[in-house]
Amino acid sequence: MQRNRSDERDVIFSRMGMNIEEQKAYYARHPEKKEIDGELRASSWDKPMGDSMGYKLFDAFENSHDDMQDIIASLSYNMTPKCDPICDDATRLTRAINDIMPMFGVEAWGITKLNEENYYSYHGRGKYKNEPVDSSYPYAIVFLTSMNKDMINRAPRFETMLATLKGYTDVGLIGLQLANYINHVGYRADNNMTTRYKVVLPPLGEKAGLGSVGRHGLMVTKQWGSRVRLGAVLTDMPLVPNENKAFDITAFCSQCGLCARCCPGKAIDVGQKPETGWKISDTDCYRIWMAVGTDCGICLSACPLTQGVDNKLLDNIEDESVINEILRVHKEKYGLRTFIKEELGFLKD
Ligand code: SF4
Ligand code: SF4
Repeated sequence: MQRNRSDERDVIFSRMGMNIEEQKAYYARHPEKKEIDGELRASSWDKPMGDSMGYKLFDAFENSHDDMQDIIASLSYNMTPKCDPICDDATRLTRAINDIMPMFGVEAWGITKLNEENYYSYHGRGKYKNEPVDSSYPYAIVFLTSMNKDMINRAPRFETMLATLKGYTDVGLIGLQLANYINHVGYRADNNMTTRYKVVLPPLGEKAGLGSVGRHGLMVTKQWGSRVRLGAVLTDMPLVPNENKAFDITAFCSQCGLCARCCPGKAIDVGQKPETGWKISDTDCYRIWMAVGTDCGICLSACPLTQGVDNKLLDNIEDESVINEILRVHKEKYGLRTFIKEELGFLKD
């Protein structure tokens, strides 16, 4: 049953967090990953800002957001319905969700039906690490928040990480509020966030009509390009899925390839999309993160849609002449990619 499902323990962040016993068990199953993972584990992260005051103030932001995510995760365990269901009409309940989502500050969302393959097979992190994932929820409400463009355009520096950490906290908090609301309507709800992922988010976001998964393996949206953070709440509340495809980025990615060209780790596939899909080398990516001492994020800023593309062009993004026009304008305005050199004030010494 779990053969079609990704194992969260294969994700690089799970692998890097394994204790000795877990490593023994994992590399017995995956001997091909032992050497490279050992090499990465033995290396240390660079500290390009040293122990400067700017770094200490950044580090405080990182620690505060790690704390926030721990708090949200701990509140997200053991959430149960507060009453018997007060309504079982899927249309009425869907209308309630659609009216309430903007009040949580959500910029875009979609409802989709969950299949077995949307779920991870085993947890790789958090309280349920190494336990099978409960795949009993039939629906997901998938949502996103945008990340600050000026911070993403400073990649690969600390500013990008400020934006991504804030994004993780935002979607965690939104998910907690939404799951709690669903509990008060009388249904089960699970806040799918950082250390307690049950589902693989980018393909689920695509299925929920939020955008399309790009060459870099991340969600690309019409409005914010790649600078988005996804969250999801899984539930057994009866809902009406809205699985209208937003758009298909495949043809555009085939011509563009800017994320792959700009990736300092050569971690992103070049060329046409293979049948099995474009692949990212998580180890080559992680190595760059260690070298720059923070989340890299260059692929997010390199994506032309992140910088904004005329809506009329986006409506025909699969058309070859439109693709060429978007790429021509992007090149004229930004060259290979945008990069804001100016450091954020509080990071300067
Ligand atoms: S984050 Fe950086 S290293 Fe990783 S895939 Fe993107 S561009 Fe490459
Ligand atoms: S940079 Fe280009 S190839 Fe990469 S995800 Fe964005 S559109 Fe696709």
